Amino acid sequence: MEDFDIVIIGGGASGLIAAGRAAELGAGVLLLEHKSKPGRKLAITGKGRCNLTNSAELPEFLNHFHPNGRFLRNSFSRFFKTELVSLLERLGIETVEERGGRIFPKSGKAPEVVEALVNWVRKKNVNILTNTAVCEFLIKGDSIHGVKACPVKWQKNKIIPDQKKLTTYTSKKVILATGGLSYPATGSTGDGYRLAKTIGHTVVPPRPALVPIEVNKKQIHGLDGLDLRNIEISLWIDGKKKDSAFGEMSFTEFGLSGPVILTISHQVVDALLNNAEVVIKLDLKPALDHKKLDLRLLRDLENNNQKSIQKILKGLLPNKLVPYCSHRLNIPLDRKANEITAKDRKSLRLWLKEIPFEVLGYRPFSEAIVTSGGVRIQEISPKTLASRVMSNLYFAGEVMDIQADTGGFNLQAAFSTGYLAAESAVGALSETD
Ligand SMILES: Cc1cc2nc3c(=O)[nH]c(=O)nc-3n(C[C@H](O)[C@H](O)[C@H](O)COP(=O)(O)OP(=O)(O)OC[C@H]3O[C@@H](n4cnc5c(N)ncnc54)[C@H](O)[C@@H]3O)c2cc1C
Repeated sequence: MEDFDIVIIGGGASGLIAAGRAAELGAGVLLLEHKSKPGRKLAITGKGRCNLTNSAELPEFLNHFHPNGRFLRNSFSRFFKTELVSLLERLGIETVEERGGRIFPKSGKAPEVVEALVNWVRKKNVNILTNTAVCEFLIKGDSIHGVKACPVKWQKNKIIPDQKKLTTYTSKKVILATGGLSYPATGSTGDGYRLAKTIGHTVVPPRPALVPIEVNKKQIHGLDGLDLRNIEISLWIDGKKKDSAFGEMSFTEFGLSGPVILTISHQVVDALLNNAEVVIKLDLKPALDHKKLDLRLLRDLENNNQKSIQKILKGLLPNKLVPYCSHRLNIPLDRKANEITAKDRKSLRLWLKEIPFEVLGYRPFSEAIVTSGGVRIQEISPKTLASRVMSNLYFAGEVMDIQADTGGFNLQAAFSTGYLAAESAVGALSETD
């Protein structure tokens, strides 16, 4: 049996920051990580470039969390984007701001961020045990006094625990930083939900979020691999328009993906789970209202009246959409512009503004960037991130029911909650019974 001030379960973004901060404040820290290395997910974030945070001001920042970011106010007031950027600078990581306020390491290399954090944690004398999975809490009355953990092996991303070698680690405080369920190959097994439930916490059912969407395959035939920019999508649930988003999207083998689709995906998932009818409509010409678009079509048709509709569509659409449009509208590609009727022109205009896709499902956790759901935040103090159910326990990161849009918001939440959980746990060390 080994004894520590603080045991941290999970060496991801939130666990690493928590470990470094707690040790910086003088605590004896043990960090337990069941993968062979800490920070596996962090190392692949932002397509390997790590979108660390965002330059948005606090009110806008909070608006990117769903259902809302109020719970995170205290975490952000203690450790926000400026503090994160200066901590990383001290660790040798310079950052740059890109389009949409997204902040990345200047090197564009996520693994360098992981390396800097792990080196920092090691320098602060944190004990890091990898290939070690926490399987239970040690409980006395209504407080936690440590954890039981065992060595694990991984075979084809399947965890094989060696229960015979169960070891007890006692501690005054425990921080649960096990993340969610998305990209399970990075270590997100959902263990934190199971652990939290064993001590009476409620877990809001986890659902994939920031996840690609599956649509009626007939409606995307021939479009796999097509990327669109400057488009607008609108989300329709049971016939009512619920949301819209402007930006980029792409077509996949199964349906739709890309930033605008990921942004609305949590609403799609929840609507489908409620058996609602979901339709996504694509506006290829969001800068033109119906009147302006009609004038543009009229002009194109009149100026090129001897040319085929194929030539005219090529001026309006990416190549892959040209035969698709002709098929959907039943207008042969070799039809001459001067043979296009007012009715054809109207159906083309309506199609360009509202291409409907019947949503049938969503991709699994293995393709979801984050998990929505998790430990119910009403059971956690937003001031300290301490459990309201069990003393000596704190939460950090995605294991809680918090999730945000893409843009660096999720990582900032993980870093900020890790930092606050560590400060709260260290601050309460003397109160431990
Ligand atoms: C492909 C991808 C790209 C992303 N890109 C971005 C981005 O650019 N910007 C952004 O803001 N967000 C991004 N995210 C989201 C972001 O990575 C997560 O929100 C963030 O990592 C959550 O941090 P965390 O510490 O809560 O969990 P994690 O980083 O998942 O860490 C949890 C750790 O706990 C360990 N663990 C779990 N159970 C146990 C156990 N029983 N015992 C021991 N260890 C355990 C896991 O192995 C893991 O290392 C991305 C996510 C994915 C999947």
